[in-house]
Amino acid sequence: MKTMPHNPYDIPFNKPWISGDEYRYMAQAVEGGHISGDGPYTRRCSQTLEAWLGAKRVLLTTSCTHALEMSALLLELKPGDEVILPAFTFVSTANAFALRGARPVFADIRLDTLNLDEGQIERLITPNTKAIVPVHYAGIGCEMGAIMEIAAAHGLEVVEDNAHGLLGRYRGRLLGTFGGMATQSFHETKNFTCGEGGALVLNHERWIEPAEILREKGTDRSRFFRGQVDKYTWVGLGSSYLPSDVLAAFLLAQLESHARIQQRRKEIWECYMQELRGWAEACGARLPIVPPGCEPSYHLFYVLMPDLERRAGLIEHLKQRRILAVFHYQPLNTSEMGMRFGGRPGDCPVTEQIADQLVRLPFYNGITDEELERVIESIRSYSF
Ligand SMILES: *Cc1c(COP(=O)(O)O)cnc(C)c1O
Repeated sequence: MKTMPHNPYDIPFNKPWISGDEYRYMAQAVEGGHISGDGPYTRRCSQTLEAWLGAKRVLLTTSCTHALEMSALLLELKPGDEVILPAFTFVSTANAFALRGARPVFADIRLDTLNLDEGQIERLITPNTKAIVPVHYAGIGCEMGAIMEIAAAHGLEVVEDNAHGLLGRYRGRLLGTFGGMATQSFHETKNFTCGEGGALVLNHERWIEPAEILREKGTDRSRFFRGQVDKYTWVGLGSSYLPSDVLAAFLLAQLESHARIQQRRKEIWECYMQELRGWAEACGARLPIVPPGCEPSYHLFYVLMPDLERRAGLIEHLKQRRILAVFHYQPLNTSEMGMRFGGRPGDCPVTEQIADQLVRLPFYNGITDEELERVIESIRSYSF
């Protein structure tokens, strides 16, 4: 018999959380006899997200990665095209466009929010630039006013990678509502989850029909189900991006609990912020900065340590106390693939600096006050 590996951590970095309705909804999906994609639960998730975001259409997908890939297909990107995105992001933000043959062009980030630095965008625009892909890091909004102005002035599309930002706001407006398209993630580590899942948010009518065809394996099956055509057939390029309705049932339970989830995440975030302020000031560490006009989605909480050595020190110190804290993205401009696309060390100094300093603290809906206290006390006992 195989034994389970010993878990060295009492407090994990992330832990799945259940609202209570997930299993009942999943059972209902199965009993209802529709467990493939686009069943009643998928429809209810889409309608919920459409209502939240005021989107023209929201299509559930199997992941945020796939939603990004759909956006690249919808933009009809081809070899030679360029897409500007932050060097400090998850691989999928770049890979989705590279898959179409487009070149990811890495912009540096702002030191305060760790978001795409809007001041770096214009110098990276060339006649081949097709789109800008801002990422709302930690769910704190990018400077969308400036980014949308630059995009409009140069005729560029904007696709918001809103994997972190659902329900966060910039100047009162929800993240994911600025770009022509936005992508969401329902991966296990995100605020709302079904294990693996995502959504493509369409903020313009013109994307709806092409996106439906793409997502339905290149067929006009959506038109057929609406009774607009009497049979469906192959009409374009496409693939399979639909999650099972069983997963959508799980997700719906989470979306319906959004007030509870966001309230708890706000408490966790504010607790870290308040309780670590004195320690950070005393030892030269830095906590997240929220500019005026930004309301976070409370996706994650990080600490910027003074350097790589003390970052490793803090992670090890917490590990000895059976607490898992982790670092985050490595710069894309210095990655093996990023360099094949022309990225170079030194191109994105802020990204390259903070990638070595950042520590993400345990952050999950079900973290108890005692666990939170233990994490905070353990960090406060790390002095250097
Ligand atoms: C999580 C994440 C993704 C990918 O999400 P999946 O649903 O796992 O594909 C993309 N971009 C960012 C910024 C993310 O954090």
